[in-house]
Amino acid sequence: MKDNIFKFIDTSEALAVELETELTKRPAIAPDSGGTGELDKCEFLEGWLKAHGITGLERHDAPDPRAKGGVRPNLIATIPCQGDGSDATIPGAAGHSRLWIMSHLDVVPPGEASLWNSDPYTVVRKDSGSRPDGSTLGPHLIGRGVEDNQQGLVSSVLAVLALVNAGIKPARTVKLLFAADEEVGSAYGIVWLMENRDLFHKDDMVLIPDGGDSNGETIEIAEKNLAWVKFTTTGLQAHGSRPDQGANAHLAGADLAVRLHYGLSAKFSAHDPLFEPDYSTFQPTKKEANVPNINTIPGEDVFYMDMRILPQYPIKAVTAEIDRIKAEVEARHRVKISYTLPQQVESRATPADSALVKRLSGAIRDVYGVETRPIGIGGGTVGAALRNADIPAAVWCRIDETAHQPNEYTLIANILGDAKVMALLMLDAG
Ligand SMILES: [Zn+2]
Repeated sequence: MKDNIFKFIDTSEALAVELETELTKRPAIAPDSGGTGELDKCEFLEGWLKAHGITGLERHDAPDPRAKGGVRPNLIATIPCQGDGSDATIPGAAGHSRLWIMSHLDVVPPGEASLWNSDPYTVVRKDSGSRPDGSTLGPHLIGRGVEDNQQGLVSSVLAVLALVNAGIKPARTVKLLFAADEEVGSAYGIVWLMENRDLFHKDDMVLIPDGGDSNGETIEIAEKNLAWVKFTTTGLQAHGSRPDQGANAHLAGADLAVRLHYGLSAKFSAHDPLFEPDYSTFQPTKKEANVPNINTIPGEDVFYMDMRILPQYPIKAVTAEIDRIKAEVEARHRVKISYTLPQQVESRATPADSALVKRLSGAIRDVYGVETRPIGIGGGTVGAALRNADIPAAVWCRIDETAHQPNEYTLIANILGDAKVMALLMLDAG
């Protein structure tokens, strides 16, 4: 059974290239990034899947008047398991978990055109090449979206086609989700689906093939809590020579930024080896302009911080400490400070010993011969939406991480190898 499936995948390079080429021709760029959305790409994929025998298709369109067709389409392909669902002892039947593989349809714009060696929307196949570090690249495809996220998308389709072709039903029902809007926050993608549809069961498992490393040895199961904070400091404007008559909002804001950086780092100082870096980070980032001239003491100051906090610390604990530090700075500089959180995401982790992670590690070992390790990342990804609903989600694929870069590429060996890993997961009845 496994031999048949691997043989099908090993000989499906032409299918992979065809699908990558057609998908890349249809740039699915979000309206927020100047595009028209995912409709053309989604409709093409629907037709292609149907023509190749994958018929259990459903669309969940999030309304978005800015996009072509007024919608941001989310497509689901269901491949039912053995049995009709009435026998609960058959894996995948009612009460059993389903395996989801979630990829995204949208891509980011190509960026600076002169940095591309070929047209971003025309897939180019190369037999060999080299990475920036000098190591050699095997056969690969170049184009916008070929890796992010069409590598994972195509792998998941090949895995299903291999089963369909061999006449094998998966051990548990498989759901391929092709989601909209991943690149700009998922408000019309997974976040919309979680709020407006009842798709996921608590005992489901979700593989997100949209992040990883060149060896395929890291499985992302957790992320830091994310908080972006905007600080507005109000003082009193004065002539540069008369600070005694004013209250320097910039000086106070700078003092605040320094105290927050060091104070929060000291207070929330735990280390967790799952993450890189393995500690919470509190970084002052964006700074808004204040006065245009040098000889005026500014009466207002605005800066932002990007905070990535280990999941053991709730964001509320951090804002309590911010309040304490803010009061010190207000008293010292005779200013008023207010703040807002334009973005905050708390995230639970998928346990490293969960069935999903164990099965995935086993399948990766079988296909690639590597031992995996769980990792956490910086925060604010699609995984959080699922994990916070207690649905196990793991981000994994074998990629060089060329996403969003000019001359983005994907290795054909990775498309096919990852398809094998996914097929093994689909067959795993454990
Ligand atoms: Zn992506």
